[in-house]
Amino acid sequence: MWGIYSSLLAAFKRKRKCSQCGKVTIVRLKDKDKTVKCDKCGKPLRPQAPGA
Ligand SMILES: [Zn+2]
Repeated sequence: MWGIYSSLLAAFKRKRKCSQCGKVTIVRLKDKDKTVKCDKCGKPLRPQAPGA
């Protein structure tokens, strides 16, 4: 049960929306727990806490 849910959540985590410019940046799976930079404006996008 939880395994299915967490794999869905993992797929969600691969996209991160920039709060500054609204650009959705695709995060590589290996970087999903790291801070990545926005493709457009370079703003650091932190990993989102589950449920946030
Ligand atoms: Zn941005």
